[in-house]
Amino acid sequence: MGEAIYQIDSDRCTECIGHYETPTCQKVCPIPNTIIQDPDRQENEEQLWDKFVLLHHADKL
Ligand code: SF4
Repeated sequence: MGEAIYQIDSDRCTECIGHYETPTCQKVCPIPNTIIQDPDRQENEEQLWDKFVLLHHADKL
């Protein structure tokens, strides 16, 4: 929770790579177009996969 709204921590968001085909938060949010990508934090698929591995499998590295 941020000061006024819920905020997504870019360091912990993989855009759902490794779990779902599309970002789940965007799919389930009842208000359309409110969850948008951070223009200052564009990541390619390889970077997102690397983050997924770090977040979920760091103990196996
Ligand atoms: S649901 Fe997926 S896209 Fe949304 S914040 Fe979580 S990891 Fe990121």
